[in-house]
Amino acid sequence: MSADPCHGAEHLVQPYLDRALTEAEVARIDGHLRECEYCNDRYVFERRLREVVRDCCCGDPVPAGFVDRLRLRCCGQDDVA
Ligand SMILES: [Zn+2]
Repeated sequence: MSADPCHGAEHLVQPYLDRALTEAEVARIDGHLRECEYCNDRYVFERRLREVVRDCCCGDPVPAGFVDRLRLRCCGQDDVA
């Protein structure tokens, strides 16, 4: 599972947006997003979602659980068993 580059990239999209990654990790994600349409779509969606949430909440910090619920509602994904 860990050999799948998409699997690793998915987990790094959030910290990538939070600027919480090392330079090496950022470089890895940058490279993967350029090559992988699936992960790039996901990244663009997450980035837009954050912008919308920030606008709605006037810059207040947003609980992570709220973003997760919003994401599930937005794209109908059901990752959580
Ligand atoms: Zn990917």
